[in-house]
Amino acid sequence: MRVKFWGTRGSIAVAQPASAIRTKIARALVAAGGRTFVDESDAGVFVDTELDFATGATYGGATTCIEIEAGDGSFIVCDMGSGVREFGISAFGRCAAGHERVYNFFMSHLHWDHICGFPFFGPAFDPNARIIVHSGHEDAEQALRRQQEEISFPVAFDWLRAKIEFVTLRAGETYRIGGVDVEVMEQHHSHKSYGYRFTDDDGKSAIFSTDSEHKIESMEGEADVAHFFRTADLVICDTMYSLADAVSMKEDWGHSSNIVAIDLCHEAGAKRLALFHHEPIYSDDDIQRMHRESIRYEELTRREQPLEVLCAYDGLELEL
Ligand SMILES: [Zn+2]
Ligand SMILES: [Zn+2]
Repeated sequence: MRVKFWGTRGSIAVAQPASAIRTKIARALVAAGGRTFVDESDAGVFVDTELDFATGATYGGATTCIEIEAGDGSFIVCDMGSGVREFGISAFGRCAAGHERVYNFFMSHLHWDHICGFPFFGPAFDPNARIIVHSGHEDAEQALRRQQEEISFPVAFDWLRAKIEFVTLRAGETYRIGGVDVEVMEQHHSHKSYGYRFTDDDGKSAIFSTDSEHKIESMEGEADVAHFFRTADLVICDTMYSLADAVSMKEDWGHSSNIVAIDLCHEAGAKRLALFHHEPIYSDDDIQRMHRESIRYEELTRREQPLEVLCAYDGLELEL
């Protein structure tokens, strides 16, 4: 199973402003200390090995879209945030090389940051493409049609050429879709959200659980979540806020913290956690700091087996 992150930001897409790029370049030049490099790839090795991630790269700014490569050769995609535009460009290239034109989407929920990429999803205009939108919500079709009404967008949903189908899934059930087992969990969020557990025939499992509020004072009530995460190879979890933010001014905003996610993954015996759905106000430095604090917290609270804590960024690819 391979997992590729096409969009990792929460709530609204962000781009690095010129001043942020300027700071990264200035820091890199200082860190290089007058060293010279033979060519770009030589300099690239320096960036990869001697600069921290927030200086040498960026977590990115597209909203939720994750691709899971597993199963029967159809595409498996979680959510249609702005990252789905880039995924669509990549998919076009792969379809030209013979990839099957079947897209199995799994929707966490229908908030704007999770559907806003669909009007820019190129394969929706491909008459040979088949798009199946799986969702725990019965109003998924209504949400996608509404955002392409004339008042909001110039291209109507009915002008799309792909064959588009909608399938409602039920929480607590396990389905066989795209050659993988898909388990569905209902989550706490405004208008509800759903988590998905994907398991391939090699027994590898990845959890997609975003836009879900887990409250630290009701952790006993989270036993069902820990069961859903049980021994997962990867848990992609909503960690939008630091714990201090999550329990003070942003309680009941429908999101979770890095600390609660680590506690749940420890409880579940999960192997890897990807911090995800980054707060749009946070800079690359802020997100990197939260990642480092998360690693320290994991080490302090570790039980038998270590939990690897990753921080998702646009373009990250993982092999499970
Ligand atoms: Zn969201
Ligand atoms: Zn949401």
